[in-house]
Amino acid sequence: MGVQAYRAPRSIPEAVSLLSSEAGAFALGGGTDLLVQQRSGARQPGSFIDLKRIPGMLGIEQLPSLWRIGAATACGEVASHPGLRSELPGLVEAAGLIGSKQVQGRASLGGNLCNASPAADSVPALVANRAVLVVAGPEGERRIAAECLTLGPGRTVLGRGEFVCAIEIPRPAARQSDAYLRFIPRTEMDIAVVGAAASLRVDEGGRCIAARIALGAVAPTVLTSPEADAALTGSMLEPEAIAACVAIAQAACSPISDRRGTAEFRRHVAGVLLRRVILAASQRLAKEG
Ligand SMILES: Cc1cc2nc3c(=O)[nH]c(=O)nc-3n(C[C@H](O)[C@H](O)[C@H](O)COP(=O)(O)OP(=O)(O)OC[C@H]3O[C@@H](n4cnc5c(N)ncnc54)[C@H](O)[C@@H]3O)c2cc1C
Repeated sequence: MGVQAYRAPRSIPEAVSLLSSEAGAFALGGGTDLLVQQRSGARQPGSFIDLKRIPGMLGIEQLPSLWRIGAATACGEVASHPGLRSELPGLVEAAGLIGSKQVQGRASLGGNLCNASPAADSVPALVANRAVLVVAGPEGERRIAAECLTLGPGRTVLGRGEFVCAIEIPRPAARQSDAYLRFIPRTEMDIAVVGAAASLRVDEGGRCIAARIALGAVAPTVLTSPEADAALTGSMLEPEAIAACVAIAQAACSPISDRRGTAEFRRHVAGVLLRRVILAASQRLAKEG
């Protein structure tokens, strides 16, 4: 293992310049993926560009129409934020499932996205809630939908010198809620065999007027399905509509078989979890009244 440089830029332009110019430069959030990958030899960073000292990279802000989460904010902070808990309980559920309390203290939301694992827990919840990523780079700033970040396991659309500065999540409308569930073979500290998220909005009569589902670990990248969403939209979220949504989503899955489960098992679990998150989100709406 060679000698690596550690840099802690204080501004976005400085970070962009270091990420563009240093050989083998990697953005560093909490290091809970990157350092493990370095030790296993899967990645050989030439230098670590720590993003945490850049203003705006840490913290959660409630704006009139959206939540802005600095990309280096620890998942533990997301999981324990009272405002997020009341408006985006599904995202809070996802962040609170990542690793352990210790891991959550370091693991950033941006790192969970940019590590590009198909099993990353926060990603389905962010995608179901239509999160947008603010990306800084040599050409300036651009915004990309969360579901467009990854190309496949470990691969993102980010170019040289680019990094995610913030995650913007629209604040839910009235009678809108979300939920996230995952299945792991153990009770904790394991990677999702399947993760499922749903965000639903209903009208005053309880009819679904907007739905968005997202599944993790059943395809190389997070799975969305406008057809599955459409099966819920316009319905009263009755069992037949949920069953139709689930069947469409299951058909769209292209899971792998590995030691955590076969493709067939993953497809089955995806259906079970999707049904449960739709029910969980709709029960939250019923409580809202
Ligand atoms: C014991 C253990 C248990 C875990 N359990 C879970 C779990 O249950 N669920 C789960 O989803 N994950 C789990 N993880 C994985 C990990 O904790 C998360 O993926 C974490 O959120 C990564 O964030 P980080 O800040 O540590 O990323 P880092 O390790 O710092 O970075 C990860 C990757 O993303 C890049 N990166 C980081 N931040 C940015 C940015 N802002 N812009 C561009 N690129 C960036 C890095 O260059 C690197 O390639 C676990 C890890 C461990 C060690």
